[in-house]
Amino acid sequence: MNAKLKIAIQKSGRLSDDSLQIIKECGISFHNGIGKLKAEATNFPAEFLFLRDDDIPGYVADGVAHIGIVGENVLVEKGKQVETVHKLGFSKCRLSIAVPKGARYLGPASLQGKRIATSYPRLLGQFLASHQVQADIHEISGSVEIAPGIGLAEAICDLVSSGSTLFTNGLEEVETVFRSEAVLIAQPQLPADLKELLGQLLFRIKAVQAAKNNKYILLNAPQAKVERIASLIPGMKSPSIMQLARPGWVSLHSVINENDFWAVIEALRAEGAEGILVVPIEKMIV
Ligand code: ATP
Ligand code: ZN
Repeated sequence: MNAKLKIAIQKSGRLSDDSLQIIKECGISFHNGIGKLKAEATNFPAEFLFLRDDDIPGYVADGVAHIGIVGENVLVEKGKQVETVHKLGFSKCRLSIAVPKGARYLGPASLQGKRIATSYPRLLGQFLASHQVQADIHEISGSVEIAPGIGLAEAICDLVSSGSTLFTNGLEEVETVFRSEAVLIAQPQLPADLKELLGQLLFRIKAVQAAKNNKYILLNAPQAKVERIASLIPGMKSPSIMQLARPGWVSLHSVINENDFWAVIEALRAEGAEGILVVPIEKMIV
């Protein structure tokens, strides 16, 4: 039987949509009935397992799944022996300590002897130990943000992205314990045939990510300015230059990075570039 890569992804939650999206953008399709535990890919030797995110590191470590997509927060909290293969750039959040608004907080020492509710006892424990603070870690599995309000704890340590949940519950973020994003993890000793499939998947993921971070740019430039303008948009190797029908003008095509997009556009305009078109890229193989 040919090798098949078993991929664990979250069944339903904050990782699910983006996990499915990246699989789709990698050109992998599958049929999945609602509520199903498994699905077979139709055009890649892979099978998907839909699980609770908390179980993904364990299943990958035990070899039930070969690879998986999970938040670094869960990965580190579970402490399983798996390999982090690649950062995926979505589900970014932070694990933070928050106290009731107006409470006196002067740094980690203010947590000494306090009761802190969290679903992340290991990460919180490491943070407290690194600040030589002894506190009572009270582990609860959900709705951590209500703990101070019902008198269960004097502080919480929970995941935050915008901070609106904290705000609604009258809490104030005071420390960042851990920064997290979704990562692709793998069983450390994958057999060669599965490793090969993981390599193929990773190649596609990188092409999808590179495409998202870059744009295709076309512009017109006076012949006299070509060198200066070309140096602003070096692209993957160098820009293409084509003669326009109108004498003294050329068209340049290249790729520019999202990060310095506006700065480059300004510089191009200052050098006399005109008719600038910017187009999304679907895949980018560097
Ligand atoms: P499950 O039922 O699978 O156990 P869950 O309720 O534990 O789900 P979710 O709330 O779906 O988990 O969060 C899954 C992961 O998404 C978290 O472990 C974290 O990595 C990330 N995450 C959590 N909160 C946010 C947020 N506010 N913004 C972005 N990502 C987040
Ligand atoms: Zn969970």
